Amino acid sequence: MSWLERFTRPKVRKIFRKPDIPEDLWEKCPKCGQMIFHRDLASNMKVCTQCGFHMQISPKRRFESLFDDSIYELLDLPKGVNDPLRFRDRKRYSERLREARNPDRSAVDALEVAHGKMGDRETVIAAFDFSFLGGSMGVSVGNGFLSATKLAISKRAPLIVIPSSGGARMQEGALSLMQMARTTIAVDELKAADLPYIVVFTNPTTGGVTASFSMLGDIAIAEPGALIGFAGQRVIEETIRQKLPDDFQKSEYLLDHGMVDMVIPRKQLREELIKIISILTDHGDLRNINESQTNSAGII
Ligand SMILES: [Zn+2]
Repeated sequence: MSWLERFTRPKVRKIFRKPDIPEDLWEKCPKCGQMIFHRDLASNMKVCTQCGFHMQISPKRRFESLFDDSIYELLDLPKGVNDPLRFRDRKRYSERLREARNPDRSAVDALEVAHGKMGDRETVIAAFDFSFLGGSMGVSVGNGFLSATKLAISKRAPLIVIPSSGGARMQEGALSLMQMARTTIAVDELKAADLPYIVVFTNPTTGGVTASFSMLGDIAIAEPGALIGFAGQRVIEETIRQKLPDDFQKSEYLLDHGMVDMVIPRKQLREELIKIISILTDHGDLRNINESQTNSAGII
């Protein structure tokens, strides 16, 4: 670089430099490409103001939007598991974990659990955080899920699970696949205790997370337009050698084909969940009353 360039370049750069605007003030809708101001997006619960696309939201925002008066208590989850297989791809898994567990984040992994009141009834919610390694399920997430079911059983409360996940965590190999069995058994324990178990599918719910606890809800709810499936569309098409409809793994298609019970927009979710919990819980109360009446009548 000559003395002339050294002298003139910085000055020219200074003139043409764009003003410092933080990039995260605007967010681009992944579906329609609309740029949305961050405050508008937050007040619309991260639903695109243009096309209604439901973007991923953090467990914190979920809990705030679902619990009465946004009041809830976070459950302390077991300490996160560190790289049990010493796995390395382009980066060490331990390094990926360290980056994901940044100091701003209270969570040890991709699942957070909270309890509080919904419609004045004690409820436990377990919500996935997609921004933590794609919401993937490893041993820590499995541990968190078990803690959530134990808490629900001890409080005699319904459990709502909100997955948002790319599936099992490949860096934990077979250990991550084992979480499919562990979480399934945990759901069984919840059902044996006669407690409602509700799943709210969000975009995306795929792989081992779909193929285990997510598909076992007493009521399966989905947010509009969510991608829900096990394998990707292209993989299935190549396997069965048939073209599939473009929307065949979307909430609305699954609703039409009986895999999902309801599709509920995010803004109505709290209200509808309260209604469902009330129906399921009251039904339980009624059944207990009927059983005791039947027994006292000496029919059984
Ligand atoms: Zn949009």
